[in-house]
Amino acid sequence: MLAEIIDGKQVSAEVRARVASEVSEFVGGGGRVPVLATVIVGEDPASEVYVANKHRACEEAGMKSVHHGLPGDTSQEDLLALVSNLGADDGIDGILVQLPVPDHINPDEVVAAIDPAKDVDGLSPVSAGLLAGGNPGMIPCTPAGVIELIDHTGTDLTGADAVIVGRSKLVGRPLISLLLDRNATVTACHSRTRDLAGVCRRADVLIAAVGVPRLIGPEFVKPGAVVIDVGINRTGNGLVGDVDFEPVSKVAGAITPVPGGVGPMTIAMLMSNTLRAARSRA
Ligand code: NDP
Repeated sequence: MLAEIIDGKQVSAEVRARVASEVSEFVGGGGRVPVLATVIVGEDPASEVYVANKHRACEEAGMKSVHHGLPGDTSQEDLLALVSNLGADDGIDGILVQLPVPDHINPDEVVAAIDPAKDVDGLSPVSAGLLAGGNPGMIPCTPAGVIELIDHTGTDLTGADAVIVGRSKLVGRPLISLLLDRNATVTACHSRTRDLAGVCRRADVLIAAVGVPRLIGPEFVKPGAVVIDVGINRTGNGLVGDVDFEPVSKVAGAITPVPGGVGPMTIAMLMSNTLRAARSRA
């Protein structure tokens, strides 16, 4: 039997519609329209597209956005000063510095300078610490989107074996905490894991966030498992995930496609975080 395809476009549209309706309720109740500030340093065409999509999503959700496009030779000090000013500005609810930044800028220092109350990307050390401590503040958008997709399948995570392949700050590590908070039994794999296929085969929920095209084949998957593919890899044959979709979909119970799975969730969760930041600041 073929796996159920988890439609990230549909789920993200549902999340965005929910956020739009909550924004309208918030504003109707006297709240100020939430505002997201975005910052790009330099001229990276991919960053321009990502940020333009985020602005469009804000507009569709009834929120505002402002953009700061800085020249590529902006100094670390000037960028930190802008981040600090945005933090002090009462009219701004969320701050997002689009990564990557040019080589002369230390991204960790910039992200650490974002006011935790406005850290809508959820990547600052304060947000990471709160999440690791089991008292989440802002949750990083991609991992939050993964949880939303798993919930969409109706899977009960309590007591489930969840295996994550990848331990990055951006995806793998936040997912460890989010899945633990949902009472899953969590295993995190990485490049040094022995018998990766054997460990993955134990998973009721298998999440791949590796960056290696089609690494996860059918021999990694327990029949009926939920398989979430975070990977986005550009190859000669177009965009592919970390999961070998065709053969794995014959074994899994549910699976996300690439594109159209986790990808669209990231912006939806950013909208959700921006509203959340505006609410808590109000
Ligand atoms: P990183 O490169 O930061 O981390 C990759 C992780 O995979 C590391 O922990 C690494 O292990 C592990 N790994 C690498 N090779 C292997 C292997 N052969 N076997 C087992 N583990 C391995 O990547 P990210 O977490 O930032 O991204 C992962 C993927 O997700 C990428 O394709 C990226 O494009 C995509 N992505 C998609 C997003 C979306 O919106 N859908 C958002 C963010 C990322 P070790 O720690 O030992 O080096």
